[in-house]
Amino acid sequence: MKAAILAVGDELLGGRCLDTNSHWLCDHLSHHGVTVVETRSVGDDQARIVTALRSLSSTADLVIMTGGLGPTQDDLTREAVAEFAGQDLVVDGSALEWITTFFRERDMTMGDAQKRIAMRPEHATCHRNGVGTAPSIRMSIGGGDLWLLPGPPAEMHDAWDSHVSTWLQQASGGQPATPAVTIKAFGLIEAELEARLGDLTRRDHRPQLGTRVSQDEFLLHVEPVGVDDAGYQACVADVEARLQPYVFGRQAETLSDVVGAALLARGESLVTAESCTGGGIGSCIVDVAGSSQWFRGGWITYSNEMKQEFLGVPAGLLEEHGAVSEPVVAAMAEGAARQSGAQWALAVSGIAGPGGGTADKPVGTVWMACHGPTGVTSRRFRLGADRSRIRMRTVKMALQVLRWRLRDIDPMTPTSWDAT
Ligand code: AMP
Ligand code: MG
Repeated sequence: MKAAILAVGDELLGGRCLDTNSHWLCDHLSHHGVTVVETRSVGDDQARIVTALRSLSSTADLVIMTGGLGPTQDDLTREAVAEFAGQDLVVDGSALEWITTFFRERDMTMGDAQKRIAMRPEHATCHRNGVGTAPSIRMSIGGGDLWLLPGPPAEMHDAWDSHVSTWLQQASGGQPATPAVTIKAFGLIEAELEARLGDLTRRDHRPQLGTRVSQDEFLLHVEPVGVDDAGYQACVADVEARLQPYVFGRQAETLSDVVGAALLARGESLVTAESCTGGGIGSCIVDVAGSSQWFRGGWITYSNEMKQEFLGVPAGLLEEHGAVSEPVVAAMAEGAARQSGAQWALAVSGIAGPGGGTADKPVGTVWMACHGPTGVTSRRFRLGADRSRIRMRTVKMALQVLRWRLRDIDPMTPTSWDAT
């Protein structure tokens, strides 16, 4: 099934309102295995809405419109659709009843303008709005289907959950569509990961693969189109195998989520000893609901004095090797584990810049150590030149190294940011 989305509203074109509805619908349609071939925005202008509908309905089997269903004079979607379909607008008895009830329950009086929102094209059906008043409308157009959904995002989401998604499942013969999978990986730059995929990324490969990078995470979307379910699952497994051991999750999963799940399964806990990230690792961890079950807490030991006093790092190590060094991060991790009794400890110390770099330890140099039941592993990275990126990469790299250890994967696995 091919879909198109038409967002209606002057506010969208005037830059006063961001069209989040189209974005949301694209995401949800893709999870139903529906390909969106076009999205468009038009103002509250009947003639332009009709023109857009003609064009979109000629390329898509399903057109979803949002906006312009309200009671105000500028809401013209209903009229435009009736004109496009060559049908009269009639009052829908059930819709009028829902809206009347809505107003009565809130001790509000209903005006004539509100009655307008109970109208639909003759051969359309109305579907109750569980949040507001304007019902959604569905009708057949030529060989395809058209849904009109309310503009306010909360009402649009409710319409989707209550009506459109069930209808979509029925329209696809009751077969649950293959949900699209997004694979997430971290540790290599995009070009290196993409090279591992070989001809899978050819534009004519089915299923089609789409790659992008967000905050240094490599996101690989596998479009569930052009193959059967078994072929799709085989391709997803193939992609994951080619990107190992950098793949850490799917969909919205984060590194903290998967590290947490692994610790929970092992019945073990984690502490952190952070210098250059200033609590960034801990902050990412507590984004995960329930992390108190496996995260005990941590130290932000930014100064040498704090490293000595709270983690027991020997002054001699700091003097001899400097705070950004293997012996110091190893001592930080061991100290944190010892003080807390946790089985696992992550420690990081680095030069986030812009000042403080030397020829020996340029800006971006980060040492990290991971203490676990079988001992400490430490490694050095070169994480770029930008302060905030260095800190963000440090957080993710520390969690990835911990994930590797928790999964018995080599914690010294090469990355694109290894210091040579
Ligand atoms: P309407 O149904 O056109 O009266 O829209 C009511 C409100 O919903 C607008 O004022 C916007 O705040 C919001 N809205 C409408 N269309 C969109 C859209 N495409 N994306 C996000 N919000 C929207
Ligand atoms: Mg409007």
